[in-house]
Amino acid sequence: MSDNCFAGYNLREELLLALQKKGFTLPTPVQEKVLALDSFDLDLIVRAKTGSGKTLAFLLPMLQEMDLPESNPKILILSPTRELAQQTAREAEWISRYMDISVATLVGGLDMAAQIRSLKEGAVIVVGTPGRTLDHINRGTLRTANIHSVILDEGDHMLDMGFKDELEGILDSLPDRKRTWLFSATMPREVRELSTKYLSSPLFISLVGEEEGNEDIAHKAYLVPSRYRMEGLVNILLWERPKRGLIFCHTRLDTMTVAQRLSESGFKAGSLHGEMTQRERNAVLASFKSGQLPLLVATNVAARGLDVEGVTHVIQLGLPDDRDTFVHRSGRTGRAGHEGINILLLSPQESTKFKYMLGSAKVPVEWHNVPDAEAIGKIQKEITEEKLLTMKEPDDRESYLAWAEDLLTRVGAKDLVARLLWSLSSKRSTGYTLSAELDREIRRKSRRPADEGQERSFKSRRPKGTMLRLGKGLADGWDVGRVLSAVCTSLHVDRSEIGAIRMKDDHVLVELLPMALSRFNEDCRGLEQRGLLEAGAGKGALLFSAPARPRRSADGPRARKWERS
Ligand code: ADP
Ligand code: MG
Repeated sequence: MSDNCFAGYNLREELLLALQKKGFTLPTPVQEKVLALDSFDLDLIVRAKTGSGKTLAFLLPMLQEMDLPESNPKILILSPTRELAQQTAREAEWISRYMDISVATLVGGLDMAAQIRSLKEGAVIVVGTPGRTLDHINRGTLRTANIHSVILDEGDHMLDMGFKDELEGILDSLPDRKRTWLFSATMPREVRELSTKYLSSPLFISLVGEEEGNEDIAHKAYLVPSRYRMEGLVNILLWERPKRGLIFCHTRLDTMTVAQRLSESGFKAGSLHGEMTQRERNAVLASFKSGQLPLLVATNVAARGLDVEGVTHVIQLGLPDDRDTFVHRSGRTGRAGHEGINILLLSPQESTKFKYMLGSAKVPVEWHNVPDAEAIGKIQKEITEEKLLTMKEPDDRESYLAWAEDLLTRVGAKDLVARLLWSLSSKRSTGYTLSAELDREIRRKSRRPADEGQERSFKSRRPKGTMLRLGKGLADGWDVGRVLSAVCTSLHVDRSEIGAIRMKDDHVLVELLPMALSRFNEDCRGLEQRGLLEAGAGKGALLFSAPARPRRSADGPRARKWERS
């Protein structure tokens, strides 16, 4: 056996057998790096691109060291989403199948009693989402005394999703753990902060250059007219013809509208979002995985970390929240060495912002205008011809020839072929003509270059939101992009819910549109955690409702400056 086979790593028989049964012979690079460590008794931070096999990279060493028999919780794996936790639990189950240990999955939305039962019955590996896991710890149903290893999977996303308090609560309740391993595809500041606080002199293994993406993925950006995004999506689907496509939207409502519109256009599409019951989510995922449902429209959160084989296309509608989201979403395709295509649909206006967002990242993006009905028609014709010309001969050729001869005495040959071709062509939409509208928008944009500097301006409209004053400014190293991204993440809103952003040296004014305002009123802790808002400041940081009384703001007459054109 060559050295880099699993067999070359002194793994225990039970693990080798499970790997062999699964057909895995070579470790992926990240697995190789972790398995090659002299000792697993240390804190570890692993940064590797999505789809690189991180799950086994932590499961194999953990199981390698386990004394058997065992019937107490020893290993706790925390995942950002229910789906990911379930997926990791399934991976833990097959890899440990010859070790006679069991796995408990602790996720919200599923029966508490069943989870308590699986813990009572002696689960050794516990995989959970932070909220539900902490809940079990607080109720005493998950006993932590024996847990020696904690794995924070997709650490960056757990923090994005606002699980900081839960994570800290869990880690604080495990003071005697032997090791904490943090896995993540990206390393934003919040993750570094968490690791400084909870990991002790961790070893850092990185398999990605700071700006490197996943080279199995081709990135394409299509420009679509902003008012015809759905029509643009239909055209792109007809053009790219994804075998299995995952479409990302910003909100739950978007996922439902888009899936509905696609169904109306003749595509089979389902939606996946956080407000579905777990049973509904599992059902739609199962049909997507089985290939019954070739298109799945999902929110970012719902699709994070999902490992579905054979996703050929990831399609992102509109501007991703930030560069990390873009990288993570595209990581749903091109997994485990398969090539994938990552498509972004942007309006001309958004395209400038996207280029700005990519910054210095070395992600090669091909730019295209949305294909028009004419080009789509041409390719559909070619496909139909191809189907016809490469078709295999009918079994009883003679009788079909006789049938054809008979028909030809009744219908003209041209007419007959035309009807047959029509019956062979796809009954889907043939696409929309969008080029004229797109050209208009591109021209409009070049007349008025997007202001990507230190302002996010009102563009000739009067402000209609509520101003929020945040306590950090240019002097603290903040800029428009960072503020926008932090506010959207903290309040769990889309960029379209944020209006103008006006940077000052020591503070910044942000216009909250109604949804963002209501989220802010519900919970502004995210902004406090990011140091943008003083603890307890709450509504005190709201300045005024601009359209009603623009001049009575804390900023006095300067409020006029909001109306830039
Ligand atoms: P990540 O967590 O890095 O995004 P996963 O652990 O989910 O990636 O792995 C991605 C896919 O690759 C999974 O389907 C997994 O079963 C498969 N995989 C992992 N390790 C190997 C291996 N050594 N050989 C073949 N396939 C593997
Ligand atoms: Mg993973």
